[in-house]
Amino acid sequence: MKYAMSNGERREAERGIIGQCPICEVPLTPKCGRIRVPHWSHPRGHFDHHWEPETEWHRRWKNMFPKDWQEVLHRAENGERHLADVKTARGQVLEFQHSEISEEERSSREAIYGEMYWVVDGSRLKNDRKSFVKALHLGRRVQQNPLTCAVPTASSMLLRKWENSQKIVVFDFGELEDSFGSFSFAAPVLWMSLPERQNGETVLRPISRSGFVDIMSKPPVVEPVRAPGPIWRRPRGYGRL
Ligand SMILES: [Zn+2]
Repeated sequence: MKYAMSNGERREAERGIIGQCPICEVPLTPKCGRIRVPHWSHPRGHFDHHWEPETEWHRRWKNMFPKDWQEVLHRAENGERHLADVKTARGQVLEFQHSEISEEERSSREAIYGEMYWVVDGSRLKNDRKSFVKALHLGRRVQQNPLTCAVPTASSMLLRKWENSQKIVVFDFGELEDSFGSFSFAAPVLWMSLPERQNGETVLRPISRSGFVDIMSKPPVVEPVRAPGPIWRRPRGYGRL
């Protein structure tokens, strides 16, 4: 994991310091090699809470959000404890998915986190972007503003893999990508796939990278303070005499 507790503080792995797992409280070892990003490792034989080795892509995404929002302990309704990649001030969970994930694991996390978004690395496999652009080309615009397209799910392996997700899936094809076939944008975009995937179609909407981070970074909604209702009501007929 990225953070461990060390002397009462959340610390990133560093040589020479010792840490403790925020979930199971076992001692963790800092791993600071040259190949993988620095992280904390559980002792051999200990469950690492589904933590997967992070790539630079994963780390960059996490770092777009405040430290306190990263690797947040989330208690599921059944009492299981999980570390959410990012949990925003509004309580939305963001999971950054670089590697393959099984259908079972995907739907289990969706059930655990409730309100969540997937951000999927679309640049991992060489053909994913190409077939995604092809799907856009074969699709149709269903709305001009904001631009919304319905595309054939079957024409892209990436879309097919996420077809059964009940959540918004955000595809990230790279930090410089501002054009996709006949579509070009003023700034790099992500593509949001909306959860209503029906009739073999996926509904997609582009969103600028910075716009997405801004939306996720919004402060919590403060409910307006409502004036308390009258505590004492005049009894019916009072004062008529
Ligand atoms: Zn642990």
